Amino acid sequence: MKLIKETSTLFNVLNEHEVEIEAILRIQKATHHRDKATGAHIIRVSKYSGLIARHLGYSEKELDDLMLASTCHDIGKIGIPDYILYKPGALTEEEFNIIKKHPEIGHDILKDSKSPVLREAANIALCHHEKYDGTGYPRGIKGDNIPLSAKIIAIADVFDSLLSTRSYKPSWNINEVIQYIELNKGKHFDPICVEVLIANMHEALKLRDSFEGDLSYGFDFTSKLKPHQPEERFQDFFQSSPVGIAMIDQLSGEFLMVNKQLLDYTGYTKEEFLKLTFWDITPKEYEFQGIQQMHDLNAYGYFGPNEKEYIRKDGTRFPIMIQTFNASHTSTSEGRNIVWGIIQDISKTKKKEDQLHGLLGKPDNTQGNIIKAKILALHAMALHDDLTGLPNRRLLADRVRQEIAKSSRNKTKFALIAFDIDKFKPVNDRFGHIVGDTLLMEISNRASFILQRCSDTICRVGGDEFIILLPDIDSVSNATLIANKIRSAFEEVFQIDGHSIYITCSMGIVLYPDHGVDELILFRLADDALYKSKNMGRNCISVSSLDY
Ligand code: GH3
Ligand code: MG
Repeated sequence: MKLIKETSTLFNVLNEHEVEIEAILRIQKATHHRDKATGAHIIRVSKYSGLIARHLGYSEKELDDLMLASTCHDIGKIGIPDYILYKPGALTEEEFNIIKKHPEIGHDILKDSKSPVLREAANIALCHHEKYDGTGYPRGIKGDNIPLSAKIIAIADVFDSLLSTRSYKPSWNINEVIQYIELNKGKHFDPICVEVLIANMHEALKLRDSFEGDLSYGFDFTSKLKPHQPEERFQDFFQSSPVGIAMIDQLSGEFLMVNKQLLDYTGYTKEEFLKLTFWDITPKEYEFQGIQQMHDLNAYGYFGPNEKEYIRKDGTRFPIMIQTFNASHTSTSEGRNIVWGIIQDISKTKKKEDQLHGLLGKPDNTQGNIIKAKILALHAMALHDDLTGLPNRRLLADRVRQEIAKSSRNKTKFALIAFDIDKFKPVNDRFGHIVGDTLLMEISNRASFILQRCSDTICRVGGDEFIILLPDIDSVSNATLIANKIRSAFEEVFQIDGHSIYITCSMGIVLYPDHGVDELILFRLADDALYKSKNMGRNCISVSSLDY
């Protein structure tokens, strides 16, 4: 009772609303006893919903009610048997049909209350799995027929689920989540809710950080969403930037500020770096270029982008692309000549370029055919894996795109099987990298041998992970058949360099269009299914299930 009293005081509600809050908190307590892990999810969904609703113009009271009501969205799951709710593997169609009953169960628990908050909660529970285009459940209603509160909770719920680790999938990274949400604008989600969430992503991620992990029971609905201070926003941007950024005193060359990425590039600590000038990390032969750049800065207010090198703390060099602009006119300059430098490590690009030049040699117009052959070889190299000669991810992505176009035209299906060798690292550790490399080649040979149709593509996506594209596969069971053939092929011992090596692999299967229709989402789901197999103890096959 103390918790309820405190919450209502914090909530700043009138006495007559205490009973509503008490009822909801008690419902929460019941669900929390059933599943402790959902506590943090429920709070975050409530916070994201508040964020979206605030930007949609909800009043403070409406916001509080929505955030409170949102916490009951999954209450109906108390009517779903544990063996289905917590099943680590893919659900059967029958089990999924049982799960799909939870909105109606939730509605039944909450409906017909005198409390407006509970009535709102009943609507949300019933409609939070409806989709904007009418393909959701339980009623398949669409667009404005779905209550706005349920549409807000729907996007908040999926957003949080994708960012979280579940028994059947790892967490997605934020770029993948944003892409998924944008792809589903007007399909799963109300376009306006998508726009509001994307426009306020920074705030949403802050909320995520504040309510991360498995929070203990107890809700604080009072923490109103504070707008972030410009300085705070700048620090976030500055420190999390994927490129190096530094503030430099133009006259002395001293570094005045440095972000984490530039410290990572150079290997210095912040304290060490702020004692340096840019001349200290610039090799001698670039000094003339440096003087020229100073001239450009004075004359035009910026220079670059220019290529040069920086010296790391350990004395080694790395190539960079640098672009700099003068910020002396800004309020932060305090009378100094302030310059901002944006620095990108371009080692990888340079390495690729060097490989290309090595292969092409000097241009020789009298040997046009040889050059043409080299360019073709180069093209093939860019699309194939060096070690196994299999197509690489780029070529596979291209084939998957073509397959999506073809399958959608012909109303056919195709499957992706992702597999990753179990405990491959110990093979390297025990027998050495060369044996490991040979094993990877043997693995690719055996898997390729199983795939008889020339339309099938097996690709090494990196390390010990492979993806197979199987066009014209009409069911998960047919894809599973092929996956099992490949697993059987690996059961026979590999004899390499006098060593007998036994391996197994974990697999994930995804079917177009049943599990997804977008190339990146299909890859992601295949990976999630593979991860599920790893989680289930390895050496098994999982089928994608996307039930968020
Ligand atoms: P898990 O069962 O979780 O898959 O464990 P794992 O040991 O197989 O580890 P993981 O799949 O995460 O990493 C693959 C390892 O394969 C990492 C690295 O040691 C090794 N590896 C990656 N690429 C190559 C390669 O080109 N050649 C060799 N020999 N080994 C590689
Ligand atoms: Mg592995």
